[in-house]
Amino acid sequence: MSKKVAITAPIKVSELAEAIGVDVMDLVGELMKNGVMATINDSVDFETAAIVVSELGFELEESEGDGEESTTTDSDVDMPRLSVLEPGEGEPRPPIIAVMGHVDHGKTTLLDALRNSDVATGEAGGITQHINAYQTEHDDRKLTFLDTPGHEAFSILREHGAQLTDLAIIVIAADDGIKPQTKEAIRYAQEAGVRMVVAVNKIDKPGADPNRVRQELTEMNLNPEEWGGDTVVVDISAEKRQNLDKLLDMIILVADLEDLRAKTEGPMEGTVIESQMVTGKGAVATVLVQHGKLKIGDFIVAGDVYGKVRSIEDFNGSRIKEAYPSQPVAVSGWKDTPHLGAFVHGVADEKAAKVAVSTASNPREGTSAITQADSMTAAMHAHQASTVPVVVKADVDGSLSSVVQSLEMLKNEEVRVDIVGSGVGPISESDIGLAESTGATIIGFGVTVPGRIKQLAMRSGVDIKIYNVIYELLDDIRERLTELLPPEITEEEMARLRIKAVFKTAQKETICGGEVLKGKLVPGLLVRMIDEEDESEDEDKEPQMKEVGVVNALQREQQSAKEVVQGELCGVNIATKGKLKLKEGDELEFFTRTTKKRSL
Ligand code: GDP
Repeated sequence: MSKKVAITAPIKVSELAEAIGVDVMDLVGELMKNGVMATINDSVDFETAAIVVSELGFELEESEGDGEESTTTDSDVDMPRLSVLEPGEGEPRPPIIAVMGHVDHGKTTLLDALRNSDVATGEAGGITQHINAYQTEHDDRKLTFLDTPGHEAFSILREHGAQLTDLAIIVIAADDGIKPQTKEAIRYAQEAGVRMVVAVNKIDKPGADPNRVRQELTEMNLNPEEWGGDTVVVDISAEKRQNLDKLLDMIILVADLEDLRAKTEGPMEGTVIESQMVTGKGAVATVLVQHGKLKIGDFIVAGDVYGKVRSIEDFNGSRIKEAYPSQPVAVSGWKDTPHLGAFVHGVADEKAAKVAVSTASNPREGTSAITQADSMTAAMHAHQASTVPVVVKADVDGSLSSVVQSLEMLKNEEVRVDIVGSGVGPISESDIGLAESTGATIIGFGVTVPGRIKQLAMRSGVDIKIYNVIYELLDDIRERLTELLPPEITEEEMARLRIKAVFKTAQKETICGGEVLKGKLVPGLLVRMIDEEDESEDEDKEPQMKEVGVVNALQREQQSAKEVVQGELCGVNIATKGKLKLKEGDELEFFTRTTKKRSL
């Protein structure tokens, strides 16, 4: 007899796999066998789920849902979320700032320069080698900088549905100007509704042209303040530490527009911004505290993982007993590594922590990097249409999540990346199997490929691409998506001719004479006319035009002509595809067609 399992439909593939206790990839495979292309985060309806799992020996029952066409389950609703404050509620807190920009424009140099400007580096050798965030002080005000790739900071933000980053510094090298990643960074910030401060860097360099950068900003509708706009632009040299104070002044000024506040009382709330296993220390997570106070001995929950805080270290590796809003800290004491982006909250005791973990509706919520396709049909359609299927493997959770989310953003209505599988660790045999059955390319980020696997991939005809730089990865995939985009075709009417006489109609050639009604006729223009064979009965419908040939040569007053214009009489020699049915009084339309490669 088959085993009964109750589910609420529609259900995510990952949740369904968990409900019946099978490996999610086996379930994806089973769905595929049934012609359903779904990734682990796509949802399936009850009927599909029932059919597929029956083949795995289960019988599904639909549990009482709310009947809504929604993937939100009841427990989602109760899921703990970051508190939203009323205006004026809470205490002022330091701003959380992400630094973004094109590679080599000086993000790291700036982050290092700001880090060293005020705060003495404490003792090294803490529980993490480095924390990907730090705090600095300026004019007695604390500022928190996220030392993560900007897109990562924003991915976390989106995952979470709550604001993690308050402000973005867009670094632009004065000798290089706005580059694709600069535009991308600006777009990320705009989409997230985060204010920007532009740092025009490397002004010490001979080729520096800060005004050109301002001009380019204007072209992106970011008008510099000094030119009457509202974008704060500061010229700096991160390397020579020029104007950094001014930059910090401006950051504080812009941050103050937001009136950033946090609850200082009550249980701690925050976000995991880094997570790893440390030999001898167990699971360690960098947590950005957002509300309340975090103390040693507190019970904390992050998605499906909980812990009792054993130690807290600040970004310098100094042990501290408590942490406050906007403070990034490394926390040990977790039962397992919590996931990047997971919401962290304090609970009363271990019992409450266990309950919270067991009711975490989607255990992998924190890293569930794959955005849900709206519906299974959409997923299937997209799969058949223009997608680049990939299997993503990365060295650590953080980079996996970041790669997956960045890949998902590379899309438009016509093309997108289809992530058929993803995971942390080296590329394995099962990855090859999955890639082979789905036609996917395996993308490895910071991972190795064992020789045996390379051979297997070659035998199976599976492509493996390894990257260490996210932008290179994204550029490659963008290029592949671009190749899938049909070119943009534009047609423009150039001239119109009324036929006065037809001299010759052969299979491949028509010679006629007429008057140019409008425009200018030149050899090489394409020719179209009303399609007499259009069978449409609809009287109101615009007559269909049919392309019939191309202008070979022109004559005016028995002389060969390079062009004839409106009002003139001429003879036209047209190279045709078949014999044209043409009579006096008909009109020919002459047009150009341009085909432009599109980019994503
Ligand atoms: P990132 O890729 O944006 O993190 O860029 P980096 O901080 O690694 O900087 C790239 C290169 O630019 C390095 O060689 C830096 O030394 C150099 N650089 C960064 N800031 C400045 C600056 O203000 N002036 C000059 N002359 N060089 C800089």
